[in-house]
Amino acid sequence: MTFTCTHNDCGHRSTHEFAKKSYEKGVVIVQCPECKARHLIADHLGWFKEVTDGGKLKTVEDLVREKGEKVTKGRVNMDGDIEYAP
Ligand SMILES: [Zn+2]
Repeated sequence: MTFTCTHNDCGHRSTHEFAKKSYEKGVVIVQCPECKARHLIADHLGWFKEVTDGGKLKTVEDLVREKGEKVTKGRVNMDGDIEYAP
């Protein structure tokens, strides 16, 4: 995924890779390489209940939707092609 860091107006864009399985079943946290802030991307195990509204919000897609922000979903395959789904 590529994301823009929102910590203290950092605004740094970075790309991170993680297993689909972790995103769908586990916990994913990425660190901004610029300001070192950590961002919760997925929490299916309920580790961060204070952030996920008591465990109701499972992924960054739920989290940003709750804040009224936007996520664009896509996929990059081995050839570097990019695929977007609505
Ligand atoms: Zn940052």
